[in-house]
Amino acid sequence: MTASVIPIVDLRDHRRRSMMPTIPVVLAAPSGQVADTRGRPLHDLRISVTDRCNFRCVYCMPKEVFDKDYTFLPHSELLSFEEIERAARLFVAHGVEKIRLTGGEPLLRKNIEKLVEMLARIETVSGKPLDLTLTTNASLLARKARSLRDAGLSRVSVSLDAIDDATFRRMNDVDFAVRDVLDGIETAQAAGLAPLKVNMVVKRGTNDAEIVPVAAHFRGSGVIVRFIEFMDVGASNRWQMDEVLPSAEVVRRIDEAFALEAIPASYSGETAERWRYRDGVGEIGVISSVTHAFCGDCSRIRLSTEGRLYLCLFATEGYDLRALLRGGHSDLATSNAIAGVWQARTDRYSELRSNPAVRQARDTRKIEMSYIGG
Ligand code: SAM
Ligand code: SF4
Ligand code: SF4
Repeated sequence: MTASVIPIVDLRDHRRRSMMPTIPVVLAAPSGQVADTRGRPLHDLRISVTDRCNFRCVYCMPKEVFDKDYTFLPHSELLSFEEIERAARLFVAHGVEKIRLTGGEPLLRKNIEKLVEMLARIETVSGKPLDLTLTTNASLLARKARSLRDAGLSRVSVSLDAIDDATFRRMNDVDFAVRDVLDGIETAQAAGLAPLKVNMVVKRGTNDAEIVPVAAHFRGSGVIVRFIEFMDVGASNRWQMDEVLPSAEVVRRIDEAFALEAIPASYSGETAERWRYRDGVGEIGVISSVTHAFCGDCSRIRLSTEGRLYLCLFATEGYDLRALLRGGHSDLATSNAIAGVWQARTDRYSELRSNPAVRQARDTRKIEMSYIGG
């Protein structure tokens, strides 16, 4: 047996911790908008469709924790496509306009195209099509891009942490080749899943030498690269502040190679700060959850694989929506319970992270990114 210095964290236990949403006595029809205690509307729903993944990215599912003994959720605990669709309709009636499928690796969920087709039929309260997107590691994208597009997916975001093959293999930790991800990206672009975004998590000392090469690779290709600060999500990635490379430094390095200028956000609540190349060949974005909190605009809610609702990426507890969905309650009752959960929301972890007491209180209790979705 190999000795390990990693504290034993019972991740399953974390997933079990949940609260029951309350159904109010007096029910009201959804008005198309709902605000939390800080006046933030509910616009964006992220749905995790599986907690499994074929990668073991060092910052997300480190091998030492997500090993052969790790217990993933059994199929019976996952929300069915019908349950997800029903929940999505209830959220849309409260003003959700954007749905992102995530995981784990969402393309591992069997018949994911079927779910995309079901969700693509839903219209927003103003009668427009939903902005329906998916975040993937692209390992199966070359095979699935066309069928996802045909099923009604609008766009796709691909995670890619290096363009250098050896660095990329080290980051995904399963020896997956960068060429296969690039094939997935090219097939998705050809299928019309545009604009395609590439997300690169930057870990200082691990892949920060890849910032300029990744920017250079996609410059002029129509792909928008977004550089994400390494975050203290979950309890297993051994996050340390000195491994965070501030976005300001990312911008400085790219600007030195290819001159940049800031451009305005495309919509209120956008997580990325946008920059364009001065020579007009495209743009990049930076997501600075650690150095520049954007909780003030956060309009996102997350639905986990087994139907728990999370109000923040750094939450320690969820609300058991699945119990309501399976409990024989009417749509109206369930919708009112969802509204109540959002109306009571106070979350703003990134604004409070610099307080050591807040950090410590959550440190080993935060839910994992692979369970809740990014
Ligand atoms: N497997 C899919 C993928 O990688 O795109 C979807 C799920 S993954 C959890 C969603 C996003 O979260 C990815 O872009 C990933 O890079 C990001 N992510 C995971 N752990 C992170 C961390 N500690 N800090 C910042 N981003 C993280
Ligand atoms: Fe899998 Fe995505 Fe996490 Fe990487 S970031 S381990 S691809 S879920
Ligand atoms: Fe939203 Fe929580 Fe992130 Fe703040 S820390 S932006 S509330 S998810």
